Amino acid sequence: MKELIYKIVEGYEPTLDEMEKILSLNEEDAEVLFKAADEVKKRYFGNEVHIRGIIEFSSYCRADCYYCGLRCSNRSLPRYRMDKDEIIECAKEAVDAGYRSLVLQSGEDLYYTKEILGEIVERIKEYSDVAITLSIGERSFEEYEYLKEKGADRFLMKHETADESLYNSLHPHSSFKNRIGCLKNLKTLGYQVGSGFMIGLPGQTLRTVAKDIMLLKELDVDMAGIGPFIPHKDTPLGKYDAGSAFLTVKAVALTRILLKRPHLPATTALGVLNTKYKDKVFFAGANVIMQKVEPHKYRRLYEIYPKDIKFEKSIREERMDLENYLLSLGLKISDSRGDALKI
Ligand code: SAH
Repeated sequence: MKELIYKIVEGYEPTLDEMEKILSLNEEDAEVLFKAADEVKKRYFGNEVHIRGIIEFSSYCRADCYYCGLRCSNRSLPRYRMDKDEIIECAKEAVDAGYRSLVLQSGEDLYYTKEILGEIVERIKEYSDVAITLSIGERSFEEYEYLKEKGADRFLMKHETADESLYNSLHPHSSFKNRIGCLKNLKTLGYQVGSGFMIGLPGQTLRTVAKDIMLLKELDVDMAGIGPFIPHKDTPLGKYDAGSAFLTVKAVALTRILLKRPHLPATTALGVLNTKYKDKVFFAGANVIMQKVEPHKYRRLYEIYPKDIKFEKSIREERMDLENYLLSLGLKISDSRGDALKI
């Protein structure tokens, strides 16, 4: 197995069968995989972690994803929208607290027209050359194009699962083909593109996870978020088990040794599970972490999945806490925007 792992590090493209074998390694044997992934990560990023601030600016959503608490059919969730000025103020505060990279994320909320979003992007960019990532779901080519012209740098949209029929059964409002089409449009327009998927969706197999990783490769992503599925009680998947933290970290590590350069976050969902893998993932390929920066009154309402509400501190204090935590693990904090590494 060690031989296969290092062959991949040197550029060999494994078969799906070989990938499945790697994903089924036990805890002891997986250490070789984690070590190889850590070496590849260090080669590209050293020991640096990029901290990205995320502003979850609206919990309204027209989509009906079976796993997500924001789905339009969930009537028990109070919804909120931040207005333009509030979003811009929040972004400025984050920039002042040291963030050089911000993600603007929401449900699929068409209240925010391209003009509104464009003005938000433009005004944040006037304040600072902070990198702006949008994560607002499926829109037209023309809207993506407009937002790119207004200054958006990156776009995050996970493919969620590479199993087309599983995808279509979990997303009644859209289709796998449309999702992939959007990702390709974003790439064509010159965005730095992030995709990713969930571990542990009901119906997923190790074969699916292997295909998920190959799809990331095919899409030539600049970033990939790989996180465990967490059940939310007010969704159709509320009674299923959460995804495995261990398998999540193996998937991150395999992605790192195969794709090498993409930014790979220690996902928030992995943190929610709160196992030893929450820290371990930084030594198995991950080099990014996201921290919520929107006002606390909104955070509890952006309930994709259930999570603890932390003691309320300022954006600056929370950033300091996170930095200290990462430093205590022996990691360094990057002071760059963390743009995509092109080979
Ligand atoms: N509306 C945007 C942003 C979606 S929320 C979009 O369509 O891209 C961001 C991510 O949260 C999703 O891509 C999904 O992978 C993740 N997510 C949603 N529900 C989840 C759950 N129950 N458990 C784990 N991750 C979930």
